[in-house]
Amino acid sequence: MLKIKDIRKEYITGDLKQTALDGVSLNFRDNEFVAILGPSGSGKTTLLNIVGGLDRYDSGDLIINGISTKKYKDRDWDSYRNHTIGFVFQSYNLIPHQSVLSNVELALTISGISKSERKRRAKEALEKVGLGEQIHKRPNQMSGGQMQRVAIARALVNDPDILLADEPTGALDSETSVQVMDLLAEVAKDRLVIMVTHNPELAEEYANRIVKLKDGKMINDSNPYEVDEDELASPEHKNMGRSSMSPLTSLGLSFNNLRTKKGRTLLTSFAGSIGIIGIAMILSLSNGVNNYISDVQKSTMASYPISIEAQTFDMSAVIENTPMGRQSEEEKTHDMDGVYADNSDFEDRAAMTMSLTKNNLTAFKKYLDDKDSEINKYVGENGIVYSYDTKFGVFTYDENGEFVNTDGSTLSSRKATPLEGRDVMGMMGGAYASDFSQLIAGTDGNQVSNVMTENYEVLYGKYPENYDEVVLVLDENNEVSATVLYELGILPSQEYKDIVDQIDAGKEVKIESKKLDYADICAKDYYLIPQCDLFIKNENGTYDNISSDNTAIEGMIDSAIKLKISGIIKPNADSDVQLINTPIGYTSALTNYLIDHTNNSEIVKEQLANKDINVINGLSFEAADDKQKIEDAKTYIRSLNTSEKAGIYTMMMQSMDSMSMMSMAGMSMDDLSGIIPEISGEIQKQSNSAKADKTGESDDAETTENADIPDMPDAMADPENMSEMDMSQLLDEYLESPDDNVMLMIYDMYISNGNYDDTLSTLGVVSLDAPSSIDIYADDFESKDAIAQCIQDYNNEAGAEDQITYTDYVGLLMSSVTTIVNTISYVLIAFVAVSLIVSSIMIGIITYISVLERTKEIGILRAIGASKRNISQVFNAETFIIGLCSGIIGIGLTLLMLIPGNAVIHQVAETDDVNASLPVLSAFVLIALSIFLTLIGGFIPAKKAAKKDPVTALRTE
Ligand code: ADP
Ligand code: MG
Repeated sequence: MLKIKDIRKEYITGDLKQTALDGVSLNFRDNEFVAILGPSGSGKTTLLNIVGGLDRYDSGDLIINGISTKKYKDRDWDSYRNHTIGFVFQSYNLIPHQSVLSNVELALTISGISKSERKRRAKEALEKVGLGEQIHKRPNQMSGGQMQRVAIARALVNDPDILLADEPTGALDSETSVQVMDLLAEVAKDRLVIMVTHNPELAEEYANRIVKLKDGKMINDSNPYEVDEDELASPEHKNMGRSSMSPLTSLGLSFNNLRTKKGRTLLTSFAGSIGIIGIAMILSLSNGVNNYISDVQKSTMASYPISIEAQTFDMSAVIENTPMGRQSEEEKTHDMDGVYADNSDFEDRAAMTMSLTKNNLTAFKKYLDDKDSEINKYVGENGIVYSYDTKFGVFTYDENGEFVNTDGSTLSSRKATPLEGRDVMGMMGGAYASDFSQLIAGTDGNQVSNVMTENYEVLYGKYPENYDEVVLVLDENNEVSATVLYELGILPSQEYKDIVDQIDAGKEVKIESKKLDYADICAKDYYLIPQCDLFIKNENGTYDNISSDNTAIEGMIDSAIKLKISGIIKPNADSDVQLINTPIGYTSALTNYLIDHTNNSEIVKEQLANKDINVINGLSFEAADDKQKIEDAKTYIRSLNTSEKAGIYTMMMQSMDSMSMMSMAGMSMDDLSGIIPEISGEIQKQSNSAKADKTGESDDAETTENADIPDMPDAMADPENMSEMDMSQLLDEYLESPDDNVMLMIYDMYISNGNYDDTLSTLGVVSLDAPSSIDIYADDFESKDAIAQCIQDYNNEAGAEDQITYTDYVGLLMSSVTTIVNTISYVLIAFVAVSLIVSSIMIGIITYISVLERTKEIGILRAIGASKRNISQVFNAETFIIGLCSGIIGIGLTLLMLIPGNAVIHQVAETDDVNASLPVLSAFVLIALSIFLTLIGGFIPAKKAAKKDPVTALRTE
């Protein structure tokens, strides 16, 4: 039984107080068809809405089956509407974008009934109203009568106790009105139907009770239901519990809803995706630029590692002290009131001296080898490369069978001067394969570093893998300098000499361009002889250095290491790094092999066992006194062979020449003649006669000034026209009664500079602990700076002798690049932030519009029992889906637009190295961001939607 007790309802709009219901009391039977009649504005709809739980009464009570609704909470009302009440409206209030079936199912969906059950019951209800065949139609594909019958089916699907109909025939013609009235009468057979109508005839015909309202008061009741108040138990307070809908159901509901309006959803998502596209594009671009920058950094760092030499010259200190470097210094502080000395000459000199330093790389290597050292954190993928001063010569035969030294000496057509020829001391020069250097070794035991394989392409063969394999390095045009090809014996030496002779003779030479086969070059054999093997023991028990004596070397070619060119490489087209600057590269395996070989050679073992004597010339490293030195010098000269003696002789003459130059430059001749009187006198003569030759006049003053200086043997005057034999003889004669000072000078020049360590290094002895240089590779500028800081820290800890000095070339070259890079990054970040704000505002607006647009739907949902939470859930689910779509569309479109976008970038930037690309992680983050922003943007509108008064919502069109 439904009991209305003295219900009042007032509407206050502004100053106007409108009484809609003025103390209405009514009892309804559980099973009757009540028609409510009354003029417009009499409060009929208000009464119905209050009974249906859509609207609240101001005072009185509504008692349903003995339960008072006075203390009902929102969710009780929701549940009450869902389970107890069915609503039928004049304007049908079907949801236009849902099928007939879905419209009917809606009430069941809200109460959380399973899908199959929903469908079964909805179909049943539709069959009951005679529309079993039309369940898949849209409401707008039906007539008014049919739509009203769908509305009745929807009202009945939950099998409610009470059906409320507000002017259900108001919009129908009389014929369909009758059909609807028949249906309602049928429905009324087993429940309470309350129908508001304007039409007294229909009311008279179908209803079994007519209630008349006027000005909010009941004025007539044709069949009142009198209840004995005393018989009834006083109304209880009991809550209804809630109608439930799982989040998944609301997601499904929203998905269905969105699916039925694909176009709209797509457009909304697209609008929302514009912000995401903006962000994604900027991220892609900045990612591309960053990749490019880090590539540039990497390749820069690959060409300019932090390089620490055993002996180093601190360029930066020198540069600072150049006039250019000094310009930045502060102005002079002294007054302009006299003559001041500018000390920069001394400062330059000091800087030069100071900047030449030795680094203890053995100690530093220990630090680097320590796994716990901080510096290892910043070392890049190319690692740390140690170089060793291995010494060796490489020889081959050219196509004419001529024995070729690859150091280029074979190519000089002139005869080697005694100085350049057999090394008089065995101390200077030696084998030097200038066309050979070691390839950067890989970090993980690979012979060749990745940085090599990444930046060079193999044209033929493969990279060397063994110690006896090398590669030929071409330039980007597949070329090698012609001279190098001659040096390497790939082209015949004689040809080179002929060409050079012709050019020097001023003849016109036709130089043809040559093309050589990869395979032919790789078929060539090379013979490597380590420096220590170029010292041959002689009958005196000392060693002869044969490194410049090609005939002697050819004699021992059988014991040489045979090298093969395993491949030919050239730099990649897009590589701007030079990682090797000799035409031939060998592996660290060869370096290691040479180190081992040298340490095990006879002469090295001998030297290692004897720290006092230079085993090459048999002289002690440190002479006791001058007398000993003079004796050593004499012994030494006597032990030399003819051409070596000639070498000494030429050397003496040449050093005299340079002294005479100094004398001409204004140095006091007395200083010089004090040290080497005879020789300087001789030189004076020579220089005077030379001058006389040129100018035709003689400088008498100088000649007289030096007239007292004793003469050297006359024949010594002109070494260039003498044979080795003559020179050797002259030296022997001179040695009969030599000047002590000359002997001391010879000792100083040739003998005393030999100490134990220098001798070992001459022999090519290298310790793995003592590299000649260390290259530390970083991947980017930050790591490089960190490494520099680590070296700084190392220096702070290390003792004075172990201090490390090096020149930071990259720092000198590139200090401004980092700043530019950072500025660009900040600008891009700012752009991203702006797009983010714009995007979220846009999404919020779109969701809000969607809420406004769906107000009516909200009203309908509330009318059939949806709670406020259900409403916000449905909207949040919808924004979730839209956010997801926006994100996916945004990412998809970005990826598509990147294709032409990159083409444009390549055009504009004129490089293919900048490639905008979206990182995968960013793509997912952006989709998540899109969902998050849409949810945030839609959250407030969804809350607002939930709060909407269902009655007002229903009234909106
Ligand atoms: P009926 O359905 O009988 O035509 P209503 O129940 O719709 O009448 O309205 C009764 C009275 O209450 C009318 O005077 C109407 O103007 C007023 N009224 C109804 N709803 C509102 C509202 N939401 N705000 C202000 N006044 C209202
Ligand atoms: Mg009305």
